[in-house]
Amino acid sequence: MSAEVLECDLIVVGAGMAGMSAAGRAAENGARVVVIEKADHMGGSAIMSGGIFWTASSAEKMALYGGGDPVLGEAVRLHYPAAVAWLRKHDNVVSRAMKVLHGYGYQIDIVKHLDDCRDAVEKAGGNVVYETSVGQLLRGPLGSVVGVRADHIDGSVDVVAPATLLTTGGYQGDAELRARYIHENARDLLVRANPYSCGEGIALGVAVGAHMTDKNRGFYGHLMSKARVWGEERFFTMLAQYHSEYGLLFNEQGLRFCDESTGDHNNSYHTVFQSNARALLLWDRRVHERYATVSTIPGQPGIDKFAVAIEHGGEGAICPDLSALIRFADASGFDGSQLVETLKEYNANTIHAWETVDPARTESCRPLDKPEFYALIVRPAITYGFGGLSIDSNARVLDIHGAPIPGLLAAGGDAGDVYGVGYSGGLAVAMTLGMVAAGTAGW
Ligand SMILES: Cc1cc2nc3c(=O)[nH]c(=O)nc-3n(C[C@H](O)[C@H](O)[C@H](O)COP(=O)(O)OP(=O)(O)OC[C@H]3O[C@@H](n4cnc5c(N)ncnc54)[C@H](O)[C@@H]3O)c2cc1C
Repeated sequence: MSAEVLECDLIVVGAGMAGMSAAGRAAENGARVVVIEKADHMGGSAIMSGGIFWTASSAEKMALYGGGDPVLGEAVRLHYPAAVAWLRKHDNVVSRAMKVLHGYGYQIDIVKHLDDCRDAVEKAGGNVVYETSVGQLLRGPLGSVVGVRADHIDGSVDVVAPATLLTTGGYQGDAELRARYIHENARDLLVRANPYSCGEGIALGVAVGAHMTDKNRGFYGHLMSKARVWGEERFFTMLAQYHSEYGLLFNEQGLRFCDESTGDHNNSYHTVFQSNARALLLWDRRVHERYATVSTIPGQPGIDKFAVAIEHGGEGAICPDLSALIRFADASGFDGSQLVETLKEYNANTIHAWETVDPARTESCRPLDKPEFYALIVRPAITYGFGGLSIDSNARVLDIHGAPIPGLLAAGGDAGDVYGVGYSGGLAVAMTLGMVAAGTAGW
């Protein structure tokens, strides 16, 4: 039994992008907010991020590339302008508009945004508490959620409030949950995210009757070359093969298995389902010069992705011709002859029969025929899974019958089905739905 009871206006579980944005927004509007964070610092994956705050440029593009629940995708897009306006008010938009994949966005000062939110919480009489976990949600009449039991090394405290928001960032840090919700192959996925998001927010919700969107196997991640050591944050972008959309991917059988042109994050998803959850990524000299040595962020210096991958333990080869490609593929456990057959057929079809290219290429459909050829073995790394708690467009958590659970909200990676097989920005999902949650809580 806890001895102490603390009252506030809003409880936020998880001090990352969604949680701090909700807390800061509510606090600026006068709420006393208690934010409970498991780690000894705030920021989660957000402070590791590139801070590119972007979303799809139209509802059609959100549907095509986000691929989740259209109502939630649209909620993100519709609230994006208000989020940008708030960031601007605090001088946290630090670039001009830029094209990002199938949308547009801005570079933001993510660290300052999080600091501003924490300052607002403290100014309004609230607190961000660290190294604290939430053991259970407290129930009121008619199944409502009225607070949380927070456990710290110094003891437990019951915190009560009219609204509790779950923003623990998703389940990607837990191997068992990755295997359950994505695929058995996902058990061994590299994790390209904060190590604390292990599905506890989702479990808290499910324990009070929430519905988990467990059919959604999608996730956001990137293809990585092999690294001698993994886990260091700097590898998260350095070894990511963002340019895979301009190359081709082959499985161990030497066959293409997805539409590579829709983006590296989609390619990561499709690679999980291949044998040994790996692929051979191939590109030619044209792609190398134009995309594999150029930064994805305008104005930033590019790095030679192949050279850096090899320097850090990646398995790859620069092949002067197709015979060398066969030799490298065979030596790496891929069917080299089949792979080159597939490549030749693809190249011929892009010129004479593009309509027969299978899998089709939604975007660029150009041959890879300019030697030398760059071949790199890649594996997916996960940033967060798209399965999570069912919410409505007001960020209210829904039970298994589709009815809101009074007092319970979720945003960011804890919210399910915002995307399906696709991705249109993680920071925007977290911040917009966090702001929506603050509004639903009355702030
Ligand atoms: C390297 C990298 C680059 C990225 N770049 C971009 C980018 O440029 N643009 C973009 O849009 N997105 C980017 N992302 C994705 C983006 O950072 C995430 O989608 C976003 O931060 C998710 O927000 P969130 O609030 O759901 O989770 P997080 O920001 O991860 O916050 C979750 C918080 O909850 C805490 N927590 C976990 N469990 C508990 C618990 N049981 N109790 C209390 N607290 C808990 C965690 O410690 C963490 O602080 C990037 C991610 C990475 C890793």
